[in-house]
Amino acid sequence: MNFDRLETLPISRNEFSQLELFKNVQFEKLAGFLLRCSVKSFEKGDKLLDPESTKRAVYIIIEGSIEVLMKSESGGSFTQTITRGHCVGEMSIFDSYPPSATITAKETCRVLVIPADTTLAMLRASHELCLNFLQMLSHRLRTDNRIVCDEQYHIRCIEENAKIDPMTGLHNRRWLEEMYTREMNRSNRGNFKLTAFMIDIDHFKQVNDTYGHLAGDRILIAVAQSLVRSLRPSDMPVRFGGEEFSVFLPGTTEENAKVIAERIRRNVENMSITLHDESIIQVTVSIGFAERIENDTVASLIDRADKALYHAKENGRNRICRLNSNDEFSLM
Ligand code: GH3
Ligand code: MG
Ligand code: MG
Repeated sequence: MNFDRLETLPISRNEFSQLELFKNVQFEKLAGFLLRCSVKSFEKGDKLLDPESTKRAVYIIIEGSIEVLMKSESGGSFTQTITRGHCVGEMSIFDSYPPSATITAKETCRVLVIPADTTLAMLRASHELCLNFLQMLSHRLRTDNRIVCDEQYHIRCIEENAKIDPMTGLHNRRWLEEMYTREMNRSNRGNFKLTAFMIDIDHFKQVNDTYGHLAGDRILIAVAQSLVRSLRPSDMPVRFGGEEFSVFLPGTTEENAKVIAERIRRNVENMSITLHDESIIQVTVSIGFAERIENDTVASLIDRADKALYHAKENGRNRICRLNSNDEFSLM
């Protein structure tokens, strides 16, 4: 049969050979099936398919482009543009589920519509067509995987940022809840040493009142940086709130804790901070610390370090105080 002269064929041999999905497929092999297909035109905004559609067919774009809008039950969504030579609707034929996306014309489109049973018959008749379908689905899977991975990376970045104090760059209370609890559980299980510091800038209100809030911010950043420089990488500094910092020091003995606290105190005391107007100011910190005891929680350990901090404040500031397991203070 000379199919080129069949006026009832929905697409010409020329159009057929230009469609990606029919790459390497002999026109004669599928022309008989094409008699059961139709070409439809869609205007911009017309809907081709949506999750409620019951008609099962493959839609191959001959001209124009369409938009695929995917929505998940959790509220996530993304859109993809499908252009000439590619198709939609095939998944519902293969897995019998309703379409998972809403598909609309982005502009005026001409689309070859192949009914479900005809699609399956064409696939049985042509290995090349099967290969083309597999290639197209693999490409789509790869693209979708990349989108999901990018999205997850993006979400992880947002989650990480939510645990960081933007002013000082230190972790914040949200991070503390998670990481201090993890460290406390680990130390309780293995009976490891764990020390907590509470650190508070002395007379900081006065600094703000004298030099202004912006200068106060600058000092807070400088103290945070000094704190990080005074610690080891395994220590866990946090901006606890306002001008207060906490640190969990895993595996730290009482002797070590004293040395580290003294280093923090001295480094802040020796630091000169230059303000915008070139004036130079210095601040000091008071530090309270306590070691983990049996059945401690994050809150109970921090509470003891905080009591020690206030004892240091009451006894002159710019100093260090420890509260031991018998609730005895020792000032340094
Ligand atoms: P003490 O030695 O007893 O700790 O005295 P203090 O003045 O430091 O303590 P107080 O708690 O009275 O004041 C803390 C001040 O810290 C008041 C508040 O305005 C300031 N502060 C808290 N957060 C920030 C901040 O992010 N930026 C600035 N500039 N100031 C802050
Ligand atoms: Mg203070
Ligand atoms: Mg304070």
